[in-house]
Amino acid sequence: MGNAGRLTPRAHLDPVEVGGVTVRHATLHNADYVASLGVRVGDRVFIRRAGDVIPQVTGVAKAAEGEPPPDWSDRVPAELLGEKKEARPGVFWRWREKFEMPDRCPACDSKAFQEGKYWSCRNPKCLPQLIGRTLILSGGGAFEIDGIGEKQIAQLIAIRPRTCSTSIEIRGRRRGSSHSTAGARRASRTSSHRSPRSDP
Ligand SMILES: [Zn+2]
Repeated sequence: MGNAGRLTPRAHLDPVEVGGVTVRHATLHNADYVASLGVRVGDRVFIRRAGDVIPQVTGVAKAAEGEPPPDWSDRVPAELLGEKKEARPGVFWRWREKFEMPDRCPACDSKAFQEGKYWSCRNPKCLPQLIGRTLILSGGGAFEIDGIGEKQIAQLIAIRPRTCSTSIEIRGRRRGSSHSTAGARRASRTSSHRSPRSDP
């Protein structure tokens, strides 16, 4: 799931070391790419990792055959399971199963839209999209908030701050110092009367 809602198929791999980094996932780019590889669940695959680029599956080394390993269903990563331990929409895990793009967003379950070889979720409240966009906004070149990551953003979204000053107060408290909390409160009071453009 990208920040703009694009759904990108991803392969979950048995952990493998590539260039000193343990790789557990590799991108499959889009539905057409998956079809061109002819890759199925359980296949042994070639992967390529260059620099910081997301590792990608480049081909099938050995197609899965025969029966799945006895513990196959227990090896489905927890992140791919829903509340009742069922596979989430868009998750393919059965031995030799073929991949198909899901017709619903795996994250928020709203309808997925297809444009050419790309599928996307258009729900503006879809959680991974919100987190991704907030990460960009809080990073360098934008608000430059130190120490904020996916986890903190998910927590903020869960408590639904309605205004900018709410967010600032939370930040002050998190630092745990009375000075910074007071400072943050002052900042929140003034910020509600001033537009950001009037700041020096
Ligand atoms: Zn969604």
